[in-house]
Amino acid sequence: MEEIIKFIKNADKAAIIPHIKADGDAIGSCLAMRAALERMGVPAVIYVEEPVEKRLQFLDENIAVIYKGEPTDCDTCIVLDCGDLTRVNLRRPILDAARCVVNIDHHKTNTFFGDANHVEPEISSTGEILFKLFGEMGVGLDKEIAKFLYASICSDTGCFAYSNTSPQTFRAAAELIGYGIDHADIARQLFDCEDLESELLKAELTRRIHSYYNNRVRIVAISEEETEKYGMKPEDIQDLVNLPRRIRGTEIAVALKQYDGKIRGSFRSNGSADVAAVAQVFGGGGHTKAAGCTIDAADLDSAEKMVAEACGRVLI
Ligand code: 5GP
Ligand code: MN
Repeated sequence: MEEIIKFIKNADKAAIIPHIKADGDAIGSCLAMRAALERMGVPAVIYVEEPVEKRLQFLDENIAVIYKGEPTDCDTCIVLDCGDLTRVNLRRPILDAARCVVNIDHHKTNTFFGDANHVEPEISSTGEILFKLFGEMGVGLDKEIAKFLYASICSDTGCFAYSNTSPQTFRAAAELIGYGIDHADIARQLFDCEDLESELLKAELTRRIHSYYNNRVRIVAISEEETEKYGMKPEDIQDLVNLPRRIRGTEIAVALKQYDGKIRGSFRSNGSADVAAVAQVFGGGGHTKAAGCTIDAADLDSAEKMVAEACGRVLI
């Protein structure tokens, strides 16, 4: 960690970058990093590419700037929870303009694209890595930073339910709760607070889950028109993969989401199948039990066929 600490401490102004379509871990980590830098007297700006998901907006009034290609004067760029440069996407000029790029992540497919890299795939979340990092850096925690870190960890562990939750994860969470944060509210905002339209859409999509390999693989797919019909935005259907994931017997759950003319795949493994390997077939990546990719296919049906075949190959 020494190298990244040196780079972070030398920053005059920092750009903080989460992966595209940032999730709770990515946004919580960015907010915690920004708050920590501000406590150290270093100004910092979080740059995203698209509006932050509605369910994360309770975290802060002013989360991020939507980057439109404008020049930045940030000498240090801290990329959080982002496995490779395709996930930095259009914000690449911010990295190019910076004197140094710091890459802090927990994806096992991380490509070490930074000038300094800290990647720990066995840690639950980037938030949990930052919890350790702040301890080593001597950044004192407070209620605000604790809230951001707790939200990160809670988000990537499915509220401490997934197998990536370790004794250290619980120790970090216990310490964070000690700062007086409203952890029940954080859990509810992240996992238990849906718009009615979204629930209606999910009800319809549940009827259309397709099953393969004796129900071991279940796939749900949604077109751009359907998303629009229900007044939803792509960021509102981020967790669609949970529909097939929750059904008894599912070993690999897949959601195929068409938006901006692209097809995005989300994969979850309930058993021992490695879905990062499936995502990598299509140029994506992630973790053994949660991964994603962009699929180059003419339409949703052909994407589903290719994905079902790739899933079949990793079933054990
Ligand atoms: P989700 O399905 O929630 O979008 O993503 C699941 C996990 O896989 C997350 O940890 C996410 O960062 C990672 N992931 C999603 N899409 C991609 C991708 O296109 N490339 C890589 N390398 N990782 C991805
Ligand atoms: Mn993460």
